[in-house]
Amino acid sequence: MLDYHASPELLNGKVILVTGAGDGIGRQAALSYGAHGATLILLGKTVKKLEAVYDELQALGAPEPAIVPLDLQGATRQHYLDMAETIRQQFGRLDGVLFNASLLGTLGPFEMIGEDEWDKVMQVNVKSQFLLTQALLPLLKESAPSSVIYTSSGVGKQGRAYWGSYAVSKFATEGMMEVLADELEGTGVRANCINPGATRTGMRARAYPAENPATLRTPADIVPLYLYLMGDDSHQVNGTSFDAQPDRMSGKTSSSSDKPPV
Ligand code: NDP
Repeated sequence: MLDYHASPELLNGKVILVTGAGDGIGRQAALSYGAHGATLILLGKTVKKLEAVYDELQALGAPEPAIVPLDLQGATRQHYLDMAETIRQQFGRLDGVLFNASLLGTLGPFEMIGEDEWDKVMQVNVKSQFLLTQALLPLLKESAPSSVIYTSSGVGKQGRAYWGSYAVSKFATEGMMEVLADELEGTGVRANCINPGATRTGMRARAYPAENPATLRTPADIVPLYLYLMGDDSHQVNGTSFDAQPDRMSGKTSSSSDKPPV
């Protein structure tokens, strides 16, 4: 899974939107997509982080990216429709979306989950993806073959104590991908999920503060799977949930037939 070797031109001419592009896995995916020729639309909450990724993409010689500062917590359907229209006007196409931004929320007993906390996590991790997917589908269909990648989690496949609203939101993400993938069969737009597995990021450090980060794979280690699913080498893959690190999984893993050619 992680030894896929992408051609340097894999994403030439493609326009790709990444949510949560300022940090962690989203940042690395954006840089790798740019290094393989894509024009990036960098969506995230913190403008400074997005500007840093913009500069890194420029330094790599990638096509000039665009920055979309947006807090998925407060964004409405109209924000997403306006964004889709801007993408249409500025780029005329959209070949891929990586839904990566997520909120971990507060981990703790199910009985203690506050309604407000539940709503926040569902808004960022589920509802924003639903609304943004709806807004972008017309462009994605026009640009087919195109690829939509959602980001799952081990706790989105097998529930685990104290992972509360975050785990439930990841089950919902898996469900959204499966429903959409089934509907999109034959349209040239495909939808798949990636569970990154334990990866050295800020979110992981917040979830496991006592863990030594040096024991974890980095976003750069797992990015080959993100390249594979975004590029046309995976044009026949639809409706699959991939584990980037099956060797570190305790739950369900994708079957060997789902593995990309190496
Ligand atoms: P990070 O917390 O490092 O990065 C998350 C990114 O999402 C940040 O760029 C953040 O922006 C952005 N984001 C969060 N909330 C919002 C919001 N309301 N509006 C806009 N952007 C937002 O997380 P990871 O890189 O670790 O995680 C990436 C994905 O992988 C997530 O979906 C996560 O659930 C999943 N995952 C990660 C694992 C891991 O071990 N790291 C394991 C399993 C799944 P900002 O920095 O500006 O706040």
